[in-house]
Amino acid sequence: MVVGADGPTSRVASSLGFPKNRDSYPAVTGQAEGDFEPIMEMHFGSLAPGAYAWVLPKAQGANVGVGCAPRLSDGKVTEYYDIFLKQRDLTVKGRPVGKLVPSNGPIRRTASETALLVGDAAGHVMAVNGGGVPIAMICGRLAGQAAAAHVRHGTSLKEYEREWRRQVAKPLHTALNTKRLATLFLGGRRRLEWSMGVVGARRMGKMIRCRPVFP
Ligand SMILES: Cc1cc2nc3c(=O)[nH]c(=O)nc-3n(C[C@H](O)[C@H](O)[C@H](O)COP(=O)(O)OP(=O)(O)OC[C@H]3O[C@@H](n4cnc5c(N)ncnc54)[C@H](O)[C@@H]3O)c2cc1C
Repeated sequence: MVVGADGPTSRVASSLGFPKNRDSYPAVTGQAEGDFEPIMEMHFGSLAPGAYAWVLPKAQGANVGVGCAPRLSDGKVTEYYDIFLKQRDLTVKGRPVGKLVPSNGPIRRTASETALLVGDAAGHVMAVNGGGVPIAMICGRLAGQAAAAHVRHGTSLKEYEREWRRQVAKPLHTALNTKRLATLFLGGRRRLEWSMGVVGARRMGKMIRCRPVFP
């Protein structure tokens, strides 16, 4: 059997005929030097069309980065990254690292008779904020257990699909619905400012934390 844990453009998925991740967007990150207030920053709007730029303070320095939706962007993600560093006056050594971030929720089918997909390969990413590590860890454990049960006892790999959907499909779909709502707001500066005013701080907080926005 094969476990496809090979990221957003999974070769395992494409070679075995699984559905593809759609609407993936590029994101890059680097480590900034200096002292930072212990406050996480998320910047929306023209700095990072369709996504966001971030400053995530750490014990020393900060993790900084930018993501952007290709269909709303005029340039490459690295160009937006350079502009963000300049505007925010950040000093980063070295080249940024990055890859694609799946942003359309989990793919329709993640297990066959002989293979399963997990992590970015399966679209196990919170679409609204691009976070994939916690879900990949939960599903990675389930994938390992399913692979062992399949090899030892012949258990169907479809059990894996049932189990991860039982455990994490709901938050993944809430995040996807919230992202779709947010995309309506992120179209331009005026619309963004108006929408943020209407949505308000409380609902913005819910959106970022992937909780249902209404009621
Ligand atoms: C800039 C950026 C910042 C992010 N920040 C966060 C964050 O703060 N929090 C969070 O939760 N998530 C974050 N994410 C998302 C997170 O990185 C991914 O969701 C997570 O790494 C998915 O893990 P994975 O193991 O499924 O895939 P990956 O991390 O992509 O790992 C796949 C591995 O497979 C290997 N591989 C691929 N093809 C082959 C092949 N043919 N042969 C051999 N090896 C292969 C790759 O080299 C890679 O090592 C961020 C993503 C980006 C791009």
